[in-house]
Amino acid sequence: MSIETVITSEELHELRAQWAGQKVVLVPTMGALHEGHISLVEKAKALGDRVIVSIFVNPKQFGPREDFATYPRTLAEDVEKLTAAQADAVFLPNASEMYPEGYQTYVVNDVMSLGLCGATRENHFRGVLTVVLKLFNQVKPQAALFGKKDYQQWRLIERMVKDLSLDVAVLGEEIVREKDGLAMSSRNRRLTPEERKVAPQIYKGLEKAHQQYVMGERHRDKLLTTFKQHLAAFKEFNLEYVEVRVQDALQEAEILEKPSVMLVAARLGDVRLIDNIELG
Ligand code: AMP
Repeated sequence: MSIETVITSEELHELRAQWAGQKVVLVPTMGALHEGHISLVEKAKALGDRVIVSIFVNPKQFGPREDFATYPRTLAEDVEKLTAAQADAVFLPNASEMYPEGYQTYVVNDVMSLGLCGATRENHFRGVLTVVLKLFNQVKPQAALFGKKDYQQWRLIERMVKDLSLDVAVLGEEIVREKDGLAMSSRNRRLTPEERKVAPQIYKGLEKAHQQYVMGERHRDKLLTTFKQHLAAFKEFNLEYVEVRVQDALQEAEILEKPSVMLVAARLGDVRLIDNIELG
C-alpha cells in the first residue's frame, strides 16, 4: 500500500476529515530517518488507528551558527522507509506555510529550557515547542510520540502540554542504539570513519556511571567523575556538558533520592552528539 503524502494545510484538513472518529498518532521528525524513528512509527501503530509522520527541518530551532544548511535531507528514502513501516501518511509542510511572512508568536519555557542543551543552543527549545504546538494544532492527534534520546525536549513537551492544557497524550520511547551502543541519530552519518569508531564511548561512559549507580552510589558528583574520566581518555571528544538531573522536571540534586538521568552533549569534529541514561 502506498503512503498518503500531505503538504498543504488544506490537504491535511481533508485527510483529518477522512479519519474522523479514529485515533490518530503523530510522530514528529526532521527526516533522515533511521531505526530510532521507525521504532516510534511501530509504537504509534500499536497505539492508534492512524499514524502520521511529519518531516520538517524546522529553521526556528537552529541557531545562526548551527547546522541547518547541512542537516541531512533524504526525502525519497524517508518516504520509502515510512511506506515499508506502514505509516498511513507523511506530512511535509512548507516553511512558508509554517511561518508565514510576519511570523512573531512563540512558545517559551523559561525554566526547564535554560540548562543542558538550552544553555548553548539559544532559542532552540523555543523553536521546538513552537513547531510542536503548531503540528499539534494542524494534525490534531490524540497522541504523539517522542524519543527519550532528546530527553530534555521530551520533558519540555510534556510540560507544555500540561501548562497549555493541550488535549494530546505525549509518550516518551526508549532510545534505539547501534550494535556498539551509539544512539542512532540523523547526524551520525556526518561522522568521519575515525569519529564513528570513537563515538560509542559516550554510551560506554554512561554505562559505567549507571553501573556505579546500580551498585548503590547516589552522590551525583561521583557519578559525573566516572563519566568524565572515561571520556577524557578519548581526546577526539569536546565535552559540552555532562549533568545529572531528576527525571520529571530536570531539577538538580546532589544526592540522588529520586529517579534521575545523566545527560551528555559532546562534539566530535563539527558533529554534536547527545545521549543520556536513566538512573533508577
Ligand atoms: P529528529 O528527527 O532527530 O528530530 O527526531 C524525531 C524524533 O525521533 C524525536 O522524538 C527523537 O527523540 C526521536 N529519535 C531520534 N533518534 C532516536 C533514537 N535513537 N531512538 C529513539 N528515538 C529517537
